[in-house]
Amino acid sequence: MVEIYNDRIEGLYCKCTKGDVAIFEILKDCIRCIYCKNEIKCKPPIEFVWKEKCPHCEGKMSTFIIDSSGIKICSRCGLSK
Ligand SMILES: [Zn+2]
Ligand SMILES: [Zn+2]
Repeated sequence: MVEIYNDRIEGLYCKCTKGDVAIFEILKDCIRCIYCKNEIKCKPPIEFVWKEKCPHCEGKMSTFIIDSSGIKICSRCGLSK
């Protein structure tokens, strides 16, 4: 279950987690995992999050975010779809 707050997003996939349990801080020009400090470049605020397999992550399950410019970005690898 993904929860989007003003300063963080809970329930995302990250390279450092096995499931969708990572918490990302929302910064000015990225979101950053609080565990491994991996930064995913984007333009907050984050509008929407959903789960889908990422073709750049060996087809593994991941979470995608949509940022304020409407770009879809994988929270594991940071690549847009
Ligand atoms: Zn991480
Ligand atoms: Zn990915």
